[in-house]
Amino acid sequence: MIYFDNSATTAVLPRAAETAQKYMREQFFNPAAAYSPAVKLERDISSARGVIARELSCEPSEVFFTSCGTESNNTALFGALHALPSNLRGRGRVLISAVEHPSVYEPAMELREQGYDVQLVPVDNTGRVSAEALKSLLTPDTRLVSIMHVNNESGAINDIDALYSIIKNNAPDALLHVDGVQAFMKEPSVKCDMYSVSGHKLHAPKGVGALYVGKGVRVRPYLLGGGQESGFRSGTTNAPGIMAFAEAVEDFAAHRQEYHDRILAVKKRLFDDLSRLRDVRLNGPEIGEGAAHILNVSFMGVRGEVLLNALSEKGLYVSTGSACAAHKRGRNRILNAMGITGDRQDGAIRFSFSHFNTEGEADTAAQMIEEQVNFLRRFRRR
Ligand code: PLP
Repeated sequence: MIYFDNSATTAVLPRAAETAQKYMREQFFNPAAAYSPAVKLERDISSARGVIARELSCEPSEVFFTSCGTESNNTALFGALHALPSNLRGRGRVLISAVEHPSVYEPAMELREQGYDVQLVPVDNTGRVSAEALKSLLTPDTRLVSIMHVNNESGAINDIDALYSIIKNNAPDALLHVDGVQAFMKEPSVKCDMYSVSGHKLHAPKGVGALYVGKGVRVRPYLLGGGQESGFRSGTTNAPGIMAFAEAVEDFAAHRQEYHDRILAVKKRLFDDLSRLRDVRLNGPEIGEGAAHILNVSFMGVRGEVLLNALSEKGLYVSTGSACAAHKRGRNRILNAMGITGDRQDGAIRFSFSHFNTEGEADTAAQMIEEQVNFLRRFRRR
């Protein structure tokens, strides 16, 4: 098997899996309980929070554990707007980029139903937010802006610090939320009011994420109940998931440069190999400029999902990007926003890598792709 779909999810690091198991089988207590093993567990959770906070360059008290990136994004959007004084609620502008993940896009569409003036900020042909367009859309009544750090389909990296300054200079009341699910640990931390991360994109198990909420930023809790996470997110703490998340983050931090170089080498090798085929187009930033772990390429004259299925039969796992739009011709919201349409959109495949991949796998994958593309092009409509 060659697994090139690491933006969808990653294999759990063995050390992280062992940690999760230890906290499931031995230290299985409810950290909110009063007896000593539970109190010790609570301390372990605090140190895990410290690890995440260190990587986000913030205080541990600004990190709230959630169940996933989707929950972090939903909490940020709904929670920030629900915390507005009642006379402002349901009014004013909300901006999101045109290429946000559905876990930002769908809440934004719900906010539109609730009365907010929701606008999409255009991106360039690589998937990067246009700073000028953002500036022109900011109004004094803009309440919230949500822009992703790294785009999950094209690998485009937004200059969040620059966008933060534009927002604060032109709409001082607006909060900036950043979906950092594809960027956390891979890109330097940025200035913002809220930042979402997810464990399973980084070799932790599924079921754990976090949201950074800067001091003084008001966000209404989404889950009410026993008051866990300082009242921000009720629900019995997912201690095994959180401890495994911290373990995976520590591993990544200890090998950051090595992992980055290995991932980038695989991406470069695959792109070099694929560039030898005819009618191949790169969707997204130039190879050295985007995120190291994401490569989006169109094979002209081939339907992406047909190629995906053929490769899957051979044990090579990739993605056509937006799963929800995979079956509708010309309906990839993200590629549309990048101006990538028609044949080029139909033929798009996203490859995403982890440090478990090798350049040898890239060569093998390229060979399989060449065979399948040549075969499928024989049936090309003329
Ligand atoms: N945001 C981005 C950019 C993503 O790529 C994903 C997952 O693919 C999510 C959010 C959702 O994260 P999760 O799967 O943890 O809910």
